[in-house]
Amino acid sequence: MSAGRRAEVGGVSVPLEHLIGGEWVGSEQTFASRSPLDWDAGPIADVARGDQATADAAVQAATAGFAVWGSWTPAQRAEVMHKMADLIEANNDDIAMVESLDMGFMYESMKNRLVARGATNFRLYADLILEHEERTWDAKNMRNVVQRMPAGPAVVITPWNAPFMLSTWKLAPALAAGNSVIHKPAEWSPLSAALLAELSLEAGFPPGAYNLVQGIGEEVGAALVSNPDVRRITFTGSPQTGRHIGKAAAENLVPFTAELGGKGPMIIFADADLDAAAHRAAWQFDDSGQVCLAGTRLLVEESIREEFLAKFHEHADALVLGDSREDTTDLGPLVHPDHRSNVHGFVERARQNGDTIVRGGAPVESSLHYEPTLIEPRSNDSEVVQSEIFGPVLTFQTFANEDEAIELANSTAYGLSAMVWTTSQDRAERVGRALRTGLVWVNTFLVRDLTAPFGGCGISGIGREGGDHALEFHSDLKTFMVLDGSVSS
Ligand code: NAD
Repeated sequence: MSAGRRAEVGGVSVPLEHLIGGEWVGSEQTFASRSPLDWDAGPIADVARGDQATADAAVQAATAGFAVWGSWTPAQRAEVMHKMADLIEANNDDIAMVESLDMGFMYESMKNRLVARGATNFRLYADLILEHEERTWDAKNMRNVVQRMPAGPAVVITPWNAPFMLSTWKLAPALAAGNSVIHKPAEWSPLSAALLAELSLEAGFPPGAYNLVQGIGEEVGAALVSNPDVRRITFTGSPQTGRHIGKAAAENLVPFTAELGGKGPMIIFADADLDAAAHRAAWQFDDSGQVCLAGTRLLVEESIREEFLAKFHEHADALVLGDSREDTTDLGPLVHPDHRSNVHGFVERARQNGDTIVRGGAPVESSLHYEPTLIEPRSNDSEVVQSEIFGPVLTFQTFANEDEAIELANSTAYGLSAMVWTTSQDRAERVGRALRTGLVWVNTFLVRDLTAPFGGCGISGIGREGGDHALEFHSDLKTFMVLDGSVSS
């Protein structure tokens, strides 16, 4: 098998083509991937730019691959999934370096945490599929059995932030359930997905079970989600793209999950551990704010306003902007100049709107960094409160009491995640239960058990990932009903 066109990225050899039916396949057209760490140095890779024909070929290969992979037992699939996890672990540092260069992600976080999480995602679903038992019961003079059937080829579309971890999080349950996959990563950070696809060849997936298509969302992405032979679509990205994909899914009556944007409230009561809360609040600038789960709206009890702000600034002042590969750096650059312009556009419009820029508010010269920014809006209707910015921009609002905190927290169209900081268990319960959101953390952030449901309310998403929830989505259920005494063995 030809290894196809490749590029050296940070000393790592990366495939630049599509993986279709177990073969590397090129396209006439390419698109350039540049590193946000050194944008002006020019492209680090020219990646194949798939089109309608690429999408059709990938779905055809995935249909053939499904006929094999979908017929394997859960135990056979689990073995390959564990092998995939072993290979991810063995290639930890290469994946970390490529992701850091391609997307600007912090190298240390990748190396010490997120690549391992990718392996865990494969192991988790390898184990869960073995426990995913059929349900059997007697009722109405019948033996009832629920069989879980793999659904068919699944299109998996992922965003540019945390691309490696999110790709594994979405691919693993689809594969474990017995579906073949066609992965379409984001065009701003396509390279770690190429490494992952290459590992799939070594892991032992049958040809066509694991496919990768590179290219532009509106081109090959749109062609994939419109293909009538696709049986599942799972998407992580913006609400705007989610709407387009949802329409394509509806046209073909294909089940669709969407993990979309967030505008999480971080509610800090006067009785909270203020040092811990202020530290955590300043660290919502982590990954330069390119985190869907971030608590980007700081809602602080009025009585602790000044004390909180003093502590927050102390922590925010200590954040070091720099090269994502250096372990002395806290915040890397934004992914793309266009994205930085978008982020700055929000801040400029906030200024014009009469919102107060409390700190930051400008791009950093000669790099793609953006100053960690805090804005006190003129009103809760301000655009910076109501829209996802996806950069290092937080808003600051105060509340007088619990009811007002809940009202403000629930006042956007989003509902992905929230934080409540208080030392009162009763308050944590009351407030946490009143929030319209998919996730609530009390006095902590990000850490979660991967079997818990994950997803958003409102425009933050449709459906739930995590544990059995994702396996259910990727399966078709069939109920057998056999009249008692009508068959004998
Ligand atoms: P995006 O919606 O622009 O793109 C996401 C993916 O969709 C990319 O691969 C893109 O190529 C593809 N795409 C674009 N148009 C398409 C089309 N018409 N048909 C098919 N595919 C298409 O999102 P993004 O800018 O890459 O990512 C940022 C967004 O993702 C933010 O809103 C963020 O909050 C969200 N996000 C959500 C979660 C979550 O778990 N809820 C996690 C990470 C990111």
